[in-house]
Amino acid sequence: MKKSLVEVKNLKKYFPIQKGIFSRTIGHVKAVDGLDFTIYEGETLGLVGESGCGKSTTGKMLLQLLHPTEGEVIYEGENLVGMPSGKLRKFRKDLQMVFQDPYASLDPRLTVFDIIAEPLEIHKVVQGKEKIRRVEELLHIVGLSGYHARRYVNEFSGGQRQRIGIARALALNPKLIVADEPVSALDVSIQSQVINLMQDLQEQFNLTYLFIAHDLSVVKHISNRIGVMYLGRLVEMADKHELFDSPKHPYTKALLSAVPTPSPMIKKERIVLQGDVPSPANPPSGCSFHPRCNECMEICKTEEPELKHIDGQYIACHLYA
Ligand code: SF4
Repeated sequence: MKKSLVEVKNLKKYFPIQKGIFSRTIGHVKAVDGLDFTIYEGETLGLVGESGCGKSTTGKMLLQLLHPTEGEVIYEGENLVGMPSGKLRKFRKDLQMVFQDPYASLDPRLTVFDIIAEPLEIHKVVQGKEKIRRVEELLHIVGLSGYHARRYVNEFSGGQRQRIGIARALALNPKLIVADEPVSALDVSIQSQVINLMQDLQEQFNLTYLFIAHDLSVVKHISNRIGVMYLGRLVEMADKHELFDSPKHPYTKALLSAVPTPSPMIKKERIVLQGDVPSPANPPSGCSFHPRCNECMEICKTEEPELKHIDGQYIACHLYA
């Protein structure tokens, strides 16, 4: 039976919109607006959606790098939201992040040794020679060499930098890694190397991933289940095969119709979404996707669909009431 590692309940993040010399709050940007989902031990849960849909904000709230406006993140039976920092420190070791941009996320003034050793020092895990040995071990684990420790990050390619970022994330033997667009800044040829490395590491260390990306082909390759987000909400979540073979939500269908097929002989109809993603500061009434949906009904304009469990898939759409 699948064992849950993280449970997210009614998670919200509203950013205040302030105006005037007194910074009066005149509204909120609803970046994440009520998420409920579970991440199971050892799986990769992919999170997809257009930019601005709240994927990265969700990842940061899971790790408590951003404080949620409301909701719970349950890890090992304890709610991390609002936990005192001293107690939270114990859990931080288990929950790590790999960032999108390996050029911006690693400090160019530090050597690779300093970058990877930093979490070991902060958490006082190892010291002296043992620290040097651990950094070299981590470099080998991600396919680099011990002598790379003395170099600076600007001496490395994008793919190598992302390997350094992964080594840093692995330093404290985490259980969950939130990977936020970890390959989108890399060349296509390098992307598959980093994805394969992440899959090998997952097997080797029984890691659980929340894999955030906008590239559906990449997400399909690495994920077990996939959640589709639109304007801060989950609109569909399913096993990856179910989702790709029989997408239900009109937004998921449109996203998948834009994924290139492996063969030019396979023809599929492209569903072109009308208009832009609405502002999360002023989302449409009812189903927030209704102004762009080609299957919109009257009820969709006024009533917000709930996320329901139907035939093994979670879906928020009035077509499946
Ligand atoms: Fe389209 Fe209505 Fe379903 Fe929203 S609820 S996705 S508008 S059919």
